[in-house]
Amino acid sequence: MLFFFGYAAACRALPTPPMPRTVAPAAATRIFRSEEELAALPASERIRYRLVQAERRYHANDNISAFVHEGELAELKAEVATKLQEVLQALVIDTDSDHNTNETAKRVAKMYIEEVFRGRYVPMPSVTEFPNVERLNELMIVGPITVRSACSHHMCPIFGKVWIGILPNEHSNLIGLSKYARIADWIMSRPQIQEEAVTMLANELQERVRPDGLAIVMEADHFCMHWRGVKDNESAMVNSVMRGAFLKDANLRREFLSLLPRKSN
Ligand SMILES: [Zn+2]
Repeated sequence: MLFFFGYAAACRALPTPPMPRTVAPAAATRIFRSEEELAALPASERIRYRLVQAERRYHANDNISAFVHEGELAELKAEVATKLQEVLQALVIDTDSDHNTNETAKRVAKMYIEEVFRGRYVPMPSVTEFPNVERLNELMIVGPITVRSACSHHMCPIFGKVWIGILPNEHSNLIGLSKYARIADWIMSRPQIQEEAVTMLANELQERVRPDGLAIVMEADHFCMHWRGVKDNESAMVNSVMRGAFLKDANLRREFLSLLPRKSN
């Protein structure tokens, strides 16, 4: 993102004719390297090489697990810890004599890779789908599901709740209640943008359950609004995705929304 802002600004400053249309970065860097050659590179470069080669997007909220080979997460963690140590140095923190920050780089690297951004690096949790033998076709609501994430802009925490409304049809696959929370957690455990997170969750559920209607509401506190910036303690962000029957049928939409508990003040 920053790169593109910088690029645009640079272009405006140039009096010469505009540069030719962008060369896709993937094409520009596509040089064949064998896995043996890749082995000499840091893990992050190896993984990035495979992503570029496959022309796959690797934004903050994308899952890249298919490109991470066995053992590479441990390497990534060590690499991130080294870089975070440099950040602490750049912040002029004496991590040698300050026992509080002595292991901070390692702790934060572990937290990123194994916990808060884990949803980027591991495949989706396995979900068993059951045919809808009872032919359920009534509105189902799952929630509130507690979700934790971090905003892509500031890497500040996001805490929130998600409600999911499903209107199944006889061909829908049903998934166990706890699986909704597992899938939500997998999608939220990445640097996210709330609107994109909700759409990603809707896409996953649509593909698995194939309902007639799908509705998702997410309400979340963004700590970049509390801790920095406007320092507003009250603001929360609510957004929703409505698909299929929830889009077409105002009564169904109203029924779903009326069943959601109001935010506790
Ligand atoms: Zn933010």
